[in-house]
Amino acid sequence: MDPLYEGKAKKLYSTDDSEVLRMEYKDDATAFNAEKKAQFENKGKLNKAITLLMYQMLEEKGVATHLVADLDEVNLLVKRVDILQVEVIVRNLAAGSFSKRMGVEEGAEFEIPIVEFSYKSDELGDPLINDDYARELKLATPEECALLKKQALVINGVMSDFFMECGLKLVDFKIEFGKTTDGEIVLADEVSPDTCRLWDATTGRKMDKDRFRQDLGGVMEGYEEVLERVAKARE
Ligand code: UDP
Repeated sequence: MDPLYEGKAKKLYSTDDSEVLRMEYKDDATAFNAEKKAQFENKGKLNKAITLLMYQMLEEKGVATHLVADLDEVNLLVKRVDILQVEVIVRNLAAGSFSKRMGVEEGAEFEIPIVEFSYKSDELGDPLINDDYARELKLATPEECALLKKQALVINGVMSDFFMECGLKLVDFKIEFGKTTDGEIVLADEVSPDTCRLWDATTGRKMDKDRFRQDLGGVMEGYEEVLERVAKARE
């Protein structure tokens, strides 16, 4: 069966239920707008398992997600949603593109988390935007932007506390939202070490995709340890 959609790390397939899609997590890894590419055995499996546990935890805390059910090693069943073309990034500590753009040392802590938006466009390299851009480009209404920001901060609070229980510092993350056929805006896409920067709370060791971006080695070992810690905290 051909996928309805194939992205850099996941594929989406239709199912017998027109409201439900199958999301397959791939082993492909990309960084720097897909300039750097690799394959990591088990990455799909690990990211699926981490996303599932995180979505279940978030749902328990009252955050609506597109999760329907777990299917198998690399597949989740998810609600069919229209993905808003706005990526929402939350930053607790300076890192990555923020540090580069602003000349701020990695690890500097923000008093209050920063929320930023970018336009989901591989062609343009996901440029930074604000709510005025989103309004004029018809990516999201001002009301939707306000909701995305509010939800992102709620999600940040819940995830930061949970990861702290796992001995992990949530440095920053990217999330996406989708609109269901009922018009509800829910958390969609994935929550994994591909999309979250996670540092060991004691040693500061990086346990996320920066191990790949920065050629630190032990990429999957980092992801495996994140899964182990998340699974233990969920027991
Ligand atoms: N991120 C992501 N997908 C993107 C861009 C960023 O998942 O297309 C995540 C990234 O892993 C990090 C956070 O969002 O956890 C902030 O990323 P940043 O803007 O610093 O960009 P990067 O350093 O990844 O280029």
